[in-house]
Amino acid sequence: MTENSRLHQAALLLRSAYCSRDGLDHVSCWSRCLRTLFGIAAGHPAEATITGLLASGPLATPSGTTGASAGQLIEILQPVPRGPQKASVVRALAGWWATQFGDECNPDWTGSISTYREALRQIRGLGPAVVDELLLFGPGLAVFPVDRTALRVAVRHGWLDLPVDDEDAQSLFARGADRSVTEMRELSQLLTKVGEEHCGREPQCDGCPLQSMLPEGGPRNPQSC
Ligand code: SF4
Repeated sequence: MTENSRLHQAALLLRSAYCSRDGLDHVSCWSRCLRTLFGIAAGHPAEATITGLLASGPLATPSGTTGASAGQLIEILQPVPRGPQKASVVRALAGWWATQFGDECNPDWTGSISTYREALRQIRGLGPAVVDELLLFGPGLAVFPVDRTALRVAVRHGWLDLPVDDEDAQSLFARGADRSVTEMRELSQLLTKVGEEHCGREPQCDGCPLQSMLPEGGPRNPQSC
């Protein structure tokens, strides 16, 4: 079985175990980026809270966000899980957005992915995986967020070897999702789900949807990632 077909098989197993979530295409790109930054996808317990904050008030637009003081944003973000801690990165993201797109909440992302990646990684608090997550779930650019969970699953199943090369990992997941933005979003969400339920720091393989795909002898490098 090739790595691609293994990823397809994994996606099938995860899809049959977990519901795919709405991609939130009905809300603005700005709104999707902030929801992604707070880790609030459709169905999250705090969804109604974030929807209310993004509908009106300073967070509704990039200019409103940059116009609010750090203290005001901390206050506004109190009801959002880990919201106050992210006030400064939200404000910095809004500042970057304003220089790129003005106050347009659904701009055309006509630049190259590498340019956006590089620029966003300069913002303090935005690591490479979060930047790729913003680009995938916000504007829908074809880049896969290779976060800790995705790496854990891939290494433990022998799809990637340690030390992991970033580009190899990016390529594995993008090919596994046929470079389709819809499938990349879905695969990323499904891997997050299996990470929450089974594949954390210590793999809990019993009953995991991917148990049938484990290498002989069990997960590889279970303590190393
Ligand atoms: S918990 Fe085990 S079976 Fe599930 S994804 Fe992790 S290594 Fe694979």
